[in-house]
Amino acid sequence: MIIVLKPNADEQKYKKLEAFIKGDLGLDIHYSRGEKSTILGLVGDTSKVDIDAVSALDIVESVTRIQEPYKAANRKFHPMDSVITVGDVKIGGGHFAKIAGPCSVETPEQIIGIAKSVKASGAHMLRGGAFKPRTSPYAFQGLGKTGIDYLLEAKKETGLPIVTEIMELTDLDLFADVDVIQVGARNMQNFRLLKELGTTDKPILLKRGLANTVAELLMSAEYIMSGGNEKVILCERGIRTFETSTRNTLDLAVIPVLKEKTHLPVIIDPSHSTGHSRYVKSVSYGATAAGADGLIIEVHNDPENAWSDGQQSITPEAFDEISKGIDKFREVVISL
Ligand code: PEP
Ligand code: MN
Repeated sequence: MIIVLKPNADEQKYKKLEAFIKGDLGLDIHYSRGEKSTILGLVGDTSKVDIDAVSALDIVESVTRIQEPYKAANRKFHPMDSVITVGDVKIGGGHFAKIAGPCSVETPEQIIGIAKSVKASGAHMLRGGAFKPRTSPYAFQGLGKTGIDYLLEAKKETGLPIVTEIMELTDLDLFADVDVIQVGARNMQNFRLLKELGTTDKPILLKRGLANTVAELLMSAEYIMSGGNEKVILCERGIRTFETSTRNTLDLAVIPVLKEKTHLPVIIDPSHSTGHSRYVKSVSYGATAAGADGLIIEVHNDPENAWSDGQQSITPEAFDEISKGIDKFREVVISL
């Protein structure tokens, strides 16, 4: 971090700032004194420096960050890919995870039936929403605790680890037997929730918000990781743009960008990013080719009558084709 002081900065205020940087923050200072102004180069871990507070000092002309404000998620401090283990499943560092299942858990027959078929097609984990963030308060809101019970039954029947979304901190106890807790796009910056999840030892599938930057996504991951939980899986699920032909706009470039900036696994959600089942296949292949560590795909046995997101849900037969195609496709991609 570089702090440029105003010309003729007040000596006493300057000494106070220097003492704060060295004493309170424990950083070293590299000085560059010009005729009119002084430049301070802060040496050390500056991720905890409050840039706004320093900028607000009247002796400070400007503050520039040269190091990212996230540390735990930063590849610079952790060059190797993180591999996250969920039961027998690994994700990241060359391990590819296919997560499949309905948008919402509806009935025991529905979730168990889908679990069995996606497992037979090569899925590694089962997804299903019990608590649903819906745009309309009149739309189906999810079965809540009952939905989690049905997911656990499906896990018992198939052995597939389960992924389901948390919306409220107060529901955390209900997630005791859930394998991966999803933080949905709408809660990506629910900082209280992120902090609390940082104190658990559950892998967290963190979705990028509808209008959030990569830097913001990484800062949200940092919230979880700084609490001690390093098991974060990042998920791109499309962002809001002016384009209306797809439900959201899939930012595929985020894969190499995130791979450069962080060691955390990155997965793609072709269902919410496109909003149409017919686009899921090509987007899944595209994400795989671009280096994703996995996919989370909505699969429903009867998409036309699904209780949520039927238009973007693929059938178990379509998942079978995509899943097998992805395996073959990966062999080619890896050999390149
Ligand atoms: C979901 O996974 O069903 C969901 C609601 O996702 P998102 O938060 O990406 O909209
Ligand atoms: Mn959905």
